Amino acid sequence: MAQKYVYFFGPSGTEGDASMKNALGGKGANLAEMARLGLPVPAGFTVSTEYCTVYLDEGRKFTDLLKREVAEAMAKVEAAMGMKYGDPVNPLLVSCRSGARRSMPGMMETVLNVGLCSATIPGLIRKTNNPRFVYDAYRRLIMMYADVVMEKAEDLEPSQGKGIRKILDEMLDEYKRRKGCKSDTDLTADDLKSLAEEFKKTIKRILKKDFPDDPWEQAWGGIGAVFKSWNGRRAVSYRRIEGIPDEWGTAVNVQAMVFGNMGDHSATGVAFSRNPATGENKFYGEWLVNAQGEDVVAGIRTPNPLNEATKNEQNKHLGSLEQQMPVLYKQLDAIRSKLEQHYQDMQDIEFTIQEGKLYMLQCRNGKRTGTAALNMAMDMLQEKLIDQPTAVMRVEPAQLDELLHPIVDPNEEKKHTPITRGLPAGPGGAVGKIVFTSADAVDWTGKGKKVILVREETNPEDVEGMRAAKGILTARGGMTSHAALVARGWGKCCIVGAGELRIDLAKKVLTVGGKAYQEGNVLTLNGTRGLVYAGAVKMMDASENPRLAEFMKIVDKHRKLGVRTNADTPADARVARNFGAEGIGLFRTEHMFYGEGSDEPLFVLRKMILSSTEEERRRAVDELYPFVKRDIKGTLEAMDGLPVTIRLLDPPLHEFVPQNEDAQAELAQALSITVADIKRRGEQLHETNPMMGHRGVRLGITYPEVTEMQVRAILQSAAELTKEGKHPHPEIMVPVTCDVGELDVTRVIVDRVHAEVKAATGVDVQFLYGTMIEIPRACLLADKMAKTSQFFSFGTNDLTQMGFGFSRDDIAGFLPDYLSKNILKADPFQTIDQEGIGQLIEMAVQKGRQARPDLKIGICGEQGGDPASVEFCYKSGLNYVSCSPFRVPIARLAAAQATLKGKK
Ligand code: ADP
Ligand code: MG
Ligand code: MG
Repeated sequence: MAQKYVYFFGPSGTEGDASMKNALGGKGANLAEMARLGLPVPAGFTVSTEYCTVYLDEGRKFTDLLKREVAEAMAKVEAAMGMKYGDPVNPLLVSCRSGARRSMPGMMETVLNVGLCSATIPGLIRKTNNPRFVYDAYRRLIMMYADVVMEKAEDLEPSQGKGIRKILDEMLDEYKRRKGCKSDTDLTADDLKSLAEEFKKTIKRILKKDFPDDPWEQAWGGIGAVFKSWNGRRAVSYRRIEGIPDEWGTAVNVQAMVFGNMGDHSATGVAFSRNPATGENKFYGEWLVNAQGEDVVAGIRTPNPLNEATKNEQNKHLGSLEQQMPVLYKQLDAIRSKLEQHYQDMQDIEFTIQEGKLYMLQCRNGKRTGTAALNMAMDMLQEKLIDQPTAVMRVEPAQLDELLHPIVDPNEEKKHTPITRGLPAGPGGAVGKIVFTSADAVDWTGKGKKVILVREETNPEDVEGMRAAKGILTARGGMTSHAALVARGWGKCCIVGAGELRIDLAKKVLTVGGKAYQEGNVLTLNGTRGLVYAGAVKMMDASENPRLAEFMKIVDKHRKLGVRTNADTPADARVARNFGAEGIGLFRTEHMFYGEGSDEPLFVLRKMILSSTEEERRRAVDELYPFVKRDIKGTLEAMDGLPVTIRLLDPPLHEFVPQNEDAQAELAQALSITVADIKRRGEQLHETNPMMGHRGVRLGITYPEVTEMQVRAILQSAAELTKEGKHPHPEIMVPVTCDVGELDVTRVIVDRVHAEVKAATGVDVQFLYGTMIEIPRACLLADKMAKTSQFFSFGTNDLTQMGFGFSRDDIAGFLPDYLSKNILKADPFQTIDQEGIGQLIEMAVQKGRQARPDLKIGICGEQGGDPASVEFCYKSGLNYVSCSPFRVPIARLAAAQATLKGKK
């Protein structure tokens, strides 16, 4: 059988259905489905997406086969509607509508009123007895057709810096001004008629072509233009962002026109079967009397509310459909229920009323906010409309972010204009007074004030102030800058790289957009969108939502993959536990050398680093021990009963060498050496490439006493806690390994200290010994590594860095180009590069388990909280993922969804 490209839909004989989205596009499939359900859908036909590829690849011409199929389908539409396309007495008009497999709102084109020309205009006027309507439809056709078919589809650069659409719109406005009309509806038939003639002349002048006066030339022009709009600039860039393949193509729906612009008993509108912002189970929408197509969304007139229950400040003075056309409203409301029952999801619908008769023009699953997604999933579960697995799939993991942080109230936000924007680095919203230094942030917060810390960029010394501030705003830095990483880790609202900010630290003023803001002035940040507002915008706290807790319980029932957290302090551990973390996947011992309370341990650490003999170093190490133990013990206690993976010291030591003179002098005194000695020793530690230098396990290889001290702190803490009746589960993790020999050497120290602790305390501490897998060589030799290692934890930040050969701290210079040139689809430091780095992971899993079948495997890189990476980890057979505390619920949901997808 020859390939079929055209599918009819109508009151009888509909050929497609909702399952055929790939061929018919979402719009076409759902039009067919609605027709099958017996809903009032104007008849039409869909030219399939497959033909889009044929058309675009083969010279943009229509084959005879297609022409025949279209003629046959058009005859069926004519029969169903009782009209004839191009007929002078009883003319049928059609729309040519785009529709891809996945909805690409506003990205492609639609032309209405196709078929109106000098041959059909008089007939339509006689038939409707409404010349005003006919000329209104005609001028709309001319405007849309010139724009979509004659200009955009021909790839013409807009002349005079503006497109033909804009030029015609301005002519319309100018005409209205001349006539003193406020609204389009005030224009008479004669006005519209003469406008149409002026339009056609302008088109000829600018586009050098006549507006076609033949109905079939119009129809083919419309169909071709919709296909071509698949390759329009907007559509292409949208596909890049959304990851929609170029090969899919769009379908074209040719559908009999119905008219909402025939007078006061005609109307058009859009509606959602439930509120898409809140999820509330109330029919929600907008409509306009005597209007067509996109008038409702175009914002030319303020649309009326659909019903009494959903009126708002802007539209409460306008009549609702419920009030003005009660019978039709009831009919529409019944269709709403029918569609929800049928699709079992919230529907976004388009309808038109032509002289008191209701028609359905589109339905699809409606887009929604995170709050609405959660509320609808839980409501529909209670209504028994959906089952638990469906409810779990209904909320996108990324949408949870919105539910976990206080946010700027979206309705209030609409009333404000941002003063500038930056990158949305830390989600949620924050309101506070401007401060310019970390110390002020701490100080003001201590006095009970809420502050926004504004910095050129942040560095580790600002950590205290960042912690204290409600929000962070920086002029420089990208999504992986220090400020961004720290803020995300804490779930703190943060905007980075707001390049328009001018900060004068000395005067404590900030200038942007020609206005100055002093210390103490109030700003509001929307960290989810990267917007900055002057003054206080109202906030909304969504985090203590009991429905979220209920939802997460259901999520956990459907999850197999474990979820742990990366936490460095007892406080973070507690937060993460509240979010449902089942242990710590990464505790970094070096944390105690940054931020609050770090002065003493940092001083001792520096002594250790700069000591030149083993004896000196041992003394410093002994001094450091109580600090290390305090943190470890506190964290093991906060995570009582759950595993805690403690990583041995990782960073290159020279990071901690003091740079300022005072600190150097103090240290010199403590070590009884000169400042010059300090400087010299510091210089000796300097490395050309510290990230690949003396760090990680290598520190312990050269300074075994440093490893010994840490292991003792871990095992001694566990022994003491056991005696106190607690249940600690420490896991000792060796970082940056590339050979099992490193693990063997370190294991000797661990065993010796274990025996010593046992002898001293009488407690035989149970623990696991394992390694981070973050060097490609370790993946290649994973079977050997697993001989000594009882667990692996993929450090995907370093694994990506070393696998790509991209320095993580320097990607800002080139990664944006890789992404915009489509060389890489995504930032591999945010989502695991499954194609490349993924192979290293899979190999290590497979080889590791070959050597040790019960090898525990997890991931502790930044990507552990990324939903796509979580799914990959599940498929690769990992036991758990670990991520920052605020991403724990997101990872739990992503893990449950991965399990459910795997079952299908
Ligand atoms: P989009 O995908 O951008 O929403 P549509 O194809 O849905 O584009 O059409 C744009 C507007 O025109 C919508 O408001 C739609 O309801 C209206 N429309 C499309 N086809 C018809 C038709 N046959 N009769 C009346 N209105 C139509
Ligand atoms: Mg639409
Ligand atoms: Mg690392």
